[in-house]
Amino acid sequence: MLNLTFIFRVRPLNPRETKISDGSAIEFPGNGQILLTGLNEVPGSKGIKTKLFSYNVVFEPGATQEDVMEYSGIKRLIEMAVEGFSTTAFCYGQTGSGKTHTLTGPPGLFQGRVDPLSENHGLVFRSFMHLFRSLQERSETHFILKASFLEIYNEKVIDLLNPGSARKPLAVRWSKKSGRFFVENLFTVDCEELDDLLAVLEEGMRNRVMGSHSMNEHSSRSHTILTVHITSEQQMENGVFITKQGKINFVDLAGSEMTKKTHSEGKTLEEANNINKSLMVLGYCIASLSDSRKKNGHIPYRDSKLTKLLADSLAGSGVTLMIACISPAKSNLTESLNTLRYASRAK
Ligand code: ADP
Ligand code: MG
Repeated sequence: MLNLTFIFRVRPLNPRETKISDGSAIEFPGNGQILLTGLNEVPGSKGIKTKLFSYNVVFEPGATQEDVMEYSGIKRLIEMAVEGFSTTAFCYGQTGSGKTHTLTGPPGLFQGRVDPLSENHGLVFRSFMHLFRSLQERSETHFILKASFLEIYNEKVIDLLNPGSARKPLAVRWSKKSGRFFVENLFTVDCEELDDLLAVLEEGMRNRVMGSHSMNEHSSRSHTILTVHITSEQQMENGVFITKQGKINFVDLAGSEMTKKTHSEGKTLEEANNINKSLMVLGYCIASLSDSRKKNGHIPYRDSKLTKLLADSLAGSGVTLMIACISPAKSNLTESLNTLRYASRAK
């Protein structure tokens, strides 16, 4: 069974959109509803003016980073990772819709000295704080934390903690022992203190920016995965040990407009390689997993690097939170509609 929840965050209009009076095409009638307006101005709308979508969790543009931490359900995901589940939080959406903002914060937050008190910190930083607080409450349990941070660009895996790997991408291999795919030679850092985890985040964010000529072009095509592995050992009163191995992946996906680009250029799965195979395959996997008729059918995890590495979270006892990020601007209406449709399909 697929344990996947979609939640929605609509970002505010940015100053440029406000200035050119682009205006908002999205209204919030309440009760988790999102109303798209002005659809008749979009090609192929067949005269339909508005469309109403209804979801369980919707963050309106005024929501703060703290609101998203508090009310997105991410805290439950962290608790489950501590309890031994494989969990994943994705940010999905077109380029510029707020994926990186939601996960890590606005651009520049990790350049220079990092202010731990900044209210701009995204879900990752806040989750690390929450994780440590929650581990401190379980003083009877011994924990080992390890973290890694990688990027998938053009089906090549780059270690964001080891910038040298940009020249020599890492291999994804199958481990018979653990029954999982893994990245060969990926730096996996032992994190004893909160500061160690934060250093992984900072280092990876710096390398992500430095390694690219045009940040926007690069980040619209690449995926990043920051993983925290949580191993715990607890001794019961009768001397018996209980051991658990969970993890949480934070995934900043490539811009969702990339999938459409792949389709519109009439590429097959093999040919899609250069545009965004991983994003396409993720879509197929989610659609096949959600489609009850295909429950026993083939799920194409092996067709991309991203889905290979996330297979254990997407399937089996994994738990996945998909944060769909949406721009309210009229000029982005077509992509916002695509994101809302994508989520409805996976319901
Ligand atoms: P993406 O990663 O989806 O391409 P970004 O996260 O880089 O998009 O967001 C694009 C711009 O909009 C950034 O400057 C970002 O700080 C800003 N932004 C996104 N979401 C919000 C928000 N909720 N509040 C304020 N600014 C935001
Ligand atoms: Mg981004």
